[in-house]
Amino acid sequence: MSNIRFHAVETASNREVSTATPPAAKTSEYFGCKVFNRKAMAQYLSKETFRAITSAIDSGEPVSLALAAHIAPSMRMWAMANGATHYTHWFHPLTDGTAEKHDAFVELDGKGGMIEEFSGKILAQQEPDASSFPSGGLRSTFEARGYSAWDPSSPAFIMGDTLCIPTIFVSYTGEALDHKAPLLKSISAVSKAAVGVCKYFNSDVSRVNSSLGWEQEYFLIDEELFNARPDLVLTGRTLMGHESAKNQQLEDHYFAAIPRRVVAFMQELEYEAWRLGIPAKTRHNEVAPNQFEVAPIFEECNLAVDHNLLMMALMRDVARRHKFRVLLHEKPFKGVNGSGKHCNWSLGTDTGINLFSPGKNTMENLRFITFIVNTLVALYRNNSLLKASIASATNAHRLGANEAPPAIISSFLGKQVSDILDAFEKSSVDDAIKVDSKKQVKLGVGQIPEILIDNTDRNRTSPFAFTGNRFEFRAVGSSANCAPAMTALNAAVAYQLSEFKQEVDKLISGGASKKEALYTVLKKYIKESKPIRFDGNGYSEEWKKEAAKRGLDCETSVPLIYDAYTSPQSLKVFATGNVHTKKELETRNEVKWEMYTKKIQIEARVLGDLAHNHIIPVAIRYQSSLLDNVAKLKNVFSDAKFKVLAKEQIRLIEAINEHITAVTETVDKMVDCRKAANKLSDERKKAIAYHDTVLPNFDTIRYHIDKLELLVDNEMWPLPKYRELLFVR
Ligand code: ADP
Ligand code: MG
Repeated sequence: MSNIRFHAVETASNREVSTATPPAAKTSEYFGCKVFNRKAMAQYLSKETFRAITSAIDSGEPVSLALAAHIAPSMRMWAMANGATHYTHWFHPLTDGTAEKHDAFVELDGKGGMIEEFSGKILAQQEPDASSFPSGGLRSTFEARGYSAWDPSSPAFIMGDTLCIPTIFVSYTGEALDHKAPLLKSISAVSKAAVGVCKYFNSDVSRVNSSLGWEQEYFLIDEELFNARPDLVLTGRTLMGHESAKNQQLEDHYFAAIPRRVVAFMQELEYEAWRLGIPAKTRHNEVAPNQFEVAPIFEECNLAVDHNLLMMALMRDVARRHKFRVLLHEKPFKGVNGSGKHCNWSLGTDTGINLFSPGKNTMENLRFITFIVNTLVALYRNNSLLKASIASATNAHRLGANEAPPAIISSFLGKQVSDILDAFEKSSVDDAIKVDSKKQVKLGVGQIPEILIDNTDRNRTSPFAFTGNRFEFRAVGSSANCAPAMTALNAAVAYQLSEFKQEVDKLISGGASKKEALYTVLKKYIKESKPIRFDGNGYSEEWKKEAAKRGLDCETSVPLIYDAYTSPQSLKVFATGNVHTKKELETRNEVKWEMYTKKIQIEARVLGDLAHNHIIPVAIRYQSSLLDNVAKLKNVFSDAKFKVLAKEQIRLIEAINEHITAVTETVDKMVDCRKAANKLSDERKKAIAYHDTVLPNFDTIRYHIDKLELLVDNEMWPLPKYRELLFVR
């Protein structure tokens, strides 16, 4: 397939852009051709090795070094046959990116030559010198030991000339230094807990998979315009810029025809994704101008997270080939929608049942209610934690900013499911056993209509919405790694399901029937979790007040939101399945606070720079030309005439002066706040200071710069404006 090419062509607009020639081959013919998947394994491994590795993957059992030794040479042969010369352990450090260090498949042969080699030991484990990755003090630089270890549940793949082996990254003392290790633990914790609960309904279940279908939103910006905006280059968002006269108010972008140049980008992106086994399916225009979305078919959670990271890397790369830059920032532009990454999450059994789908009889529907209600209770009891799992300096511009989910976690169930839970709460166990079919309909337990699957009752303002057979966690940021959100969700649900089981079992051992016990606990839970259910408009001011009354976490300061990770409740939740130790949680928060501070610090510097070196000099230059004009008018005209003729110019000169003064004064104030904050050595306190004292100046500075943009001669303005940035030509 390597002969398929995407050609760069000249367009009428005189700009060289790339236009894809869609591959002639069918997608199914090359899907996954760059992945060491089961098909490739079956071809390259002995029958016995193939059986051993696939059963280890399916059961989650560890892979022995002996087995790795059998696999490594075949993996290398496959990789070399597909153009690879190097290999790397590919992992997710505590930044939002991925890390890789490439080594060639070569060893000295002892006779002055080289041989290609790749051993089982190297496949299984490496020790990258990783002292420069954030660890929050878990691994001080003098003992910079971090180990990467092979994760066989996510297949190896080839990027460029390199075989990439997905790995976890842990410290010498076993603490996770990455996002993948805790995710894997949360996946097995929720499986174990859910299997326990499934036993009440179906004894065949031996494994429950959490699945994830992400929807990645992004902006595309013309490369030249991007490069002319230092704020976009250095921070990923515009720190200034007056709104364009036209942006999204005509609502003419969502699902509209995709511009040809963008289609070319999407086609190449999909082609690359399919070769890497990413099941990309949906592509469309989003709400804001220049905003788009790509979504794959959902997959097992760990694989889906890896695929999302790969997709983000591909997007950056393919965009460059098309003379675009992709913006994954949550809020690149003021005044138009920001970007999120909806995470569609569900639980499914190895027997093929989606646990959030209703069934055909009372017991199956009781199972459906059990999993819905336990998820709601988990969300309710851990709403602070789930918010913390998606909080970041960049996502803060989107959440609680009058658009997209507020900084309050709640769940939208839709009328059908809400009615079912309300009816269930009032029903009694005898009703359900003895009821005739009519009564069952009323109860909602016996016959939940099939139509539920196609539930189109949508509420776009809810951060956690039930959408038919899954929950959609919409608060996740577009630039984030999905893993922390999925880890928190899986762990919270795992903890909740085991608590549920304990309560039910206790009632059973006290003499209740299984059904009675399930009813009793579920009804109690429905009552308890009511405050988390909210079907109204999540963007409204009333909801903020109402949510506070209900006792939901309404904190909006990101550094304080992170505290939820180490609350007594979160410590209990993460202890389940050993997802996170206390020490890990504490050090991770250190990393988060540090990241928060650094992001705001960089933005503050760029903002100060742009104000002082780009905006103010231009404003002064324009003001001088006005002054020049006024002086000349004075020379030429009588005083009376001059007053009339120079009135507007003088008003402008004064207005410009006001804004210049305000910008300068606020930048100075911001710098002082930064200096004071930098003196703090405690990372939490520093982040809080950045949030409380540095950040608030941004809006003021921006306000005055945006006013200047409206006053200053367009020809002089040093930065591309929104109306140019936001409309791809
Ligand atoms: P919308 O934008 O209307 O929410 P999309 O079609 O863009 O819908 O995305 C829906 C996502 O949900 C897709 O990634 C899809 O694969 C995923 N999805 C569907 N069913 C499940 C499920 N059971 N578990 C997890 N994700 C699912
Ligand atoms: Mg969606």
